[in-house]
Amino acid sequence: MSEKDLNYLVNLHQVLKENDIIEQLREYAEAHQVPIVHPLTLDMIKQLIRMKDVRSVLEIGTAIGYSSMQFASVKSGIHVTTVERNPDMIQRAKENIQHYRYEDNITLVEGDASERHDAIFNQTYDMLFIDAAKAQSKRFFEMYAPLVKPGGLILTDNVLYHGFVADIDVVRSRNVKQMVKKVQKYNEWLIQLEGYHTNFLDIEDGLAITIKGE
Ligand code: SAH
Ligand code: MG
Repeated sequence: MSEKDLNYLVNLHQVLKENDIIEQLREYAEAHQVPIVHPLTLDMIKQLIRMKDVRSVLEIGTAIGYSSMQFASVKSGIHVTTVERNPDMIQRAKENIQHYRYEDNITLVEGDASERHDAIFNQTYDMLFIDAAKAQSKRFFEMYAPLVKPGGLILTDNVLYHGFVADIDVVRSRNVKQMVKKVQKYNEWLIQLEGYHTNFLDIEDGLAITIKGE
């Protein structure tokens, strides 16, 4: 997608965003470098929630609670269980969820997503959103995809990571290169994973949409 097309579509949505109070958090996120989900990617996810009549969501990576509340806002009766390990983020998320009155629709699980099975394994989910440390996406998929109902969705954000995944040679930092390699490996693993069907969208930072076989 060209920069012009992207800007055109983002601006086209502006009229809706003006009535969307959760959108106020985008300004905070940008000022504090919190990597919340990009606008067109979010619209795609909200549309999938409507299409699939999603009611229960498991999210790995809450940050300030922006995406959790956006998902819960699609319609009444949606419940989001979301996991976050960073104490500062947990604090912000709690404040935001309370401020926007989503306490009844969102359960915030505090701690590392690979250690909080106790709070996550007690139910099944219509949708899993993997949006935490990018090098760990495979681990979280293996851990939590079994909890997704047959026919349910597993969405992975940032599968193109800043355009580096398709063009790793431009990456200078050793750490970033390591991480990008893991994202490449994850994408290659995911696309041919048995029992699941995945397509990759090149909107913004890239979104993988996986449907679990029935
Ligand atoms: N989903 C949010 C953005 C999440 S940013 C939104 O779109 O609004 C990624 C978050 O994942 C960060 O806040 C980071 O602290 C958290 N995170 C990274 N690894 C984690 C882990 N292993 N367990 C729990 N949270 C993790
Ligand atoms: Mg993301």
